[in-house]
Amino acid sequence: IRKVFVGGNHKCNGSVTATSSRARLLAEAAPDLPSSDDVDIVIAPPAPYILTTKAVLDEHGSSAAVALQDVAIAREGGAHTGTVAADMAADLGAAWVIVGHSERRHVYGESDAHTRAKIAAVLDADLGLIYCVGETLEQREGGDAFGPVAAQMAALFDNPALATKPELWANIVVAYEPVWAIGTGKVASPEQAQEIHTQLRAAVAAATSPDIAAAVRIIYGGSVKLANCAELIAMPDIDGFLIGGASLKPEFVDIIKTAA
Ligand code: 13P
Repeated sequence: IRKVFVGGNHKCNGSVTATSSRARLLAEAAPDLPSSDDVDIVIAPPAPYILTTKAVLDEHGSSAAVALQDVAIAREGGAHTGTVAADMAADLGAAWVIVGHSERRHVYGESDAHTRAKIAAVLDADLGLIYCVGETLEQREGGDAFGPVAAQMAALFDNPALATKPELWANIVVAYEPVWAIGTGKVASPEQAQEIHTQLRAAVAAATSPDIAAAVRIIYGGSVKLANCAELIAMPDIDGFLIGGASLKPEFVDIIKTAA
């Protein structure tokens, strides 16, 4: 019942030329891909390439959408050097914004307060939110993989706009990205991912309603590639992927075909 969602997070990779040709490759593959009724395809290029990516996709009539990888804590921007505001993302034609990626949390030391403000900015701007959560290896080995994930989900559940406008949940995709699986080649087993996805869906049900929990897409990210995507998508609570490294390769198109 849930539409498959496949996102390609280019992270800080690419150039005008390389990013354009990746977008072109995806757009030209459209006849071989499931229709937009069956899959949401989203690419998150580095912010400077959003406009070019969007132009290439539009020029080829592609239904793929564009996402911003991170966002300023103030929706409309202002004195926030080095960031991109949610309103600018919308202005550039981006439909989605990634918030809470582990590289923001753990490499750039982004605080919970920042993450909360970013969630609010994205939802207030009426953009789609791809909210990333995931435990570190240390936390998993400590025996409580879901505890830290639940704490990260609290940032979403506490959002005041969501409390008054539960329909905003339709704009949200939760991405479970275990930190130990990101860029390491160590993919979570389908059972490990399914276990956390089940717990995530139950947490959404407890915080909202069974209907919202049944409808929300929960996608997996962390060393997804063509060779492992079929067994992951076969799990009942894995609704798609957020793909890093493999989204830079032609393989991305084959992953979408397999997932949808
Ligand atoms: P990799 O697919 O390179 O492990 O990255 C996953 C990720 O962080 C997507 O946001």
